[in-house]
Amino acid sequence: MLQNIRVVLVNTSHPGNIGGAARAMKNMGLNRLVLVDPQEFPSPKADARASGATDVLEAAQVVATLEEALVGCSLVFGTSARDRHIPWPLLDPRETASKCLEQIQAGGEVALVFGREYAGLTNQELQRCHFHVHIPSDPEFGSLNLAAAVQVLVYEARMAWLAAHDQPTKMTKLEAGADVNAQPVTADELEQYFVHLEQTLIEIGFLIPERPRHLMSRLRRLYGRADVTRLEMNILRGILTETQKTVRGEPHKRRENDV
Ligand code: SAH
Repeated sequence: MLQNIRVVLVNTSHPGNIGGAARAMKNMGLNRLVLVDPQEFPSPKADARASGATDVLEAAQVVATLEEALVGCSLVFGTSARDRHIPWPLLDPRETASKCLEQIQAGGEVALVFGREYAGLTNQELQRCHFHVHIPSDPEFGSLNLAAAVQVLVYEARMAWLAAHDQPTKMTKLEAGADVNAQPVTADELEQYFVHLEQTLIEIGFLIPERPRHLMSRLRRLYGRADVTRLEMNILRGILTETQKTVRGEPHKRRENDV
């Protein structure tokens, strides 16, 4: 459905920006790129900046005029880095994304139109748009790189799309679990750790077996609250092992502190 949002780049001078825009789109799940009279396209510079999004570039439609680029669109947004003093409905990217979503959910097609690196969109081009969009950047330095501006708009479109489809914006537990280091330790691993901890505390003289003072049960309670992961368990075990070597006067293996 995000495919019903097309990104239109008008008269772009730098092919690198076309590649950067294609990448930004693909990252956010969009794939319809329309180029109005690009100055240099196709280009290896565009391919390089697109990284793995060359399919978006290859499928890009090249047209001569903005009118052709907008054929079939029921809603058109023109982005602008500055206030042109044309009284026009002005939106920020988030408002734009929500209007985009409404429109595509109703079966319409939407265009996000971006201007030239050096001159933006002409007033005539801006008047072809139903809404103007301004990214609320610092007025002292308000103009974004073209591909960066595309990124902001398509990101907001994706966020709106995810929200509309009840999709999570964070990695689900299942995906996070795919990282073994992030998995919680099992109860038996924790038990082995307590054995190791107790031994070590005895060796360093902190735990006197004749006077245990509930130390181990207090520590159990502490670790029980901590939701220890595999990675953290490895660190804790490493600390105990090195502590034991120190008290036993054994040599330490050189180890990378890369945890
Ligand atoms: N000197 C031009 C700058 C254009 S930047 C000018 O003043 O208009 C190239 C394109 O990136 C713009 O045409 C617009 O599509 C987009 N862009 C850059 N900064 C933006 C901003 N703050 N808000 C919305 N679009 C922006």
